[in-house]
Amino acid sequence: MRIGVFSTKRYDRTFLTNANVTHGHKLTFLEARLSEETISLVEDFDAVCVFVNDHVNARVLAGLHERGVKLVALRCAGFNNVNLRAASEYGIKVVRVPAYSPNSVAEHTLGLMLCLNRQFHRAYNRVREGNFSLDGLMGFDLCRRTIGVVGTGKIGETLCHLLTGFRTRVLAYDVVANPACTELGVEYVDFDTLLEECDIVSLHCPLNPDTHHLINDASIELMRDGAMLINTSRGGLLDTKAVIRGLKHGKIGSLGLDVYEEEDDLFFEDLSSNVLQDDVFARLLTFPNVVITGHQAFFTEEALTNIAHTTITNATEFCTSAICRNEVVWQG
Ligand code: NAD
Repeated sequence: MRIGVFSTKRYDRTFLTNANVTHGHKLTFLEARLSEETISLVEDFDAVCVFVNDHVNARVLAGLHERGVKLVALRCAGFNNVNLRAASEYGIKVVRVPAYSPNSVAEHTLGLMLCLNRQFHRAYNRVREGNFSLDGLMGFDLCRRTIGVVGTGKIGETLCHLLTGFRTRVLAYDVVANPACTELGVEYVDFDTLLEECDIVSLHCPLNPDTHHLINDASIELMRDGAMLINTSRGGLLDTKAVIRGLKHGKIGSLGLDVYEEEDDLFFEDLSSNVLQDDVFARLLTFPNVVITGHQAFFTEEALTNIAHTTITNATEFCTSAICRNEVVWQG
């Protein structure tokens, strides 16, 4: 199968090439992001392989259809950047990598919690400058604190496992309870109760019309004063301007982000010589109690190996079998 791999970085090339050795697909690596502007790069491909910030909207799908593309292979779990309805109308299959390493994201999430609580980011800079004062660096014991996990699928469940090791009380909210979490002692509550009772709220649900701006002025108002908020899921779960208001008032005590609503203009590129144009993002960077990583929670050796293996296997399955196990189907 001829596959155009968009948004390619050096590591994608390495891991996908290795995974493809026994499959023999013809991979063409393109650095550009797939969008309406770059659709002309699609030439003689049966499939395109895309990542989190490629724009697979209705117009792009029309262009793919015109050019004979039959498969969109996402090399990620989330699929909020694909118009599934349009894909279904054009008869283009969409496949994804549902669970490449829940540990990678859950462990990164825990890292953000620990960093913000014990202020590693500030301590690191202070010590390098010979400032050994502890003023302003006080944290709290995680043990016996209440942590809220929103979305207890594969990543949320893994985080619950990790949190039990800290002997925290874990509350969860999901549209469907996960028995593995209940067995761990996780208590399911409604969303408002979770916000009201938790010292830390961590988001692990997908971005969809129901969850867009799940964290907004009203939900922030319900949170405990000074609570920590963590989002390693998708940027659109937060109304970022409302979160900034919450930080300014001290309602949100600290914020850890691995994703951002407008990240596709920023993340995965070296923009260190450019003037930052996003004023909302620039404001977030001014807070001492905000730590942002650039969508790197997935970025472990194990995850990249699994992503590449599943992506290539998805393509092979599409060619050789009527059923694609990892197909994402438009639900109407
Ligand atoms: P998953 O499908 O296994 O779990 C998602 C859970 O969210 C499910 O239990 C589902 O029932 C629940 N959910 C759906 N709608 C909900 C709602 N309205 N309210 C509360 N819960 C709801 O997915 P996963 O593998 O655990 O991944 C979770 C998210 O993490 C993905 O959607 C993706 O956006 C994000 N992610 C981020 C990175 C990263 O590098 N930062 C990497 C992988 C995944």
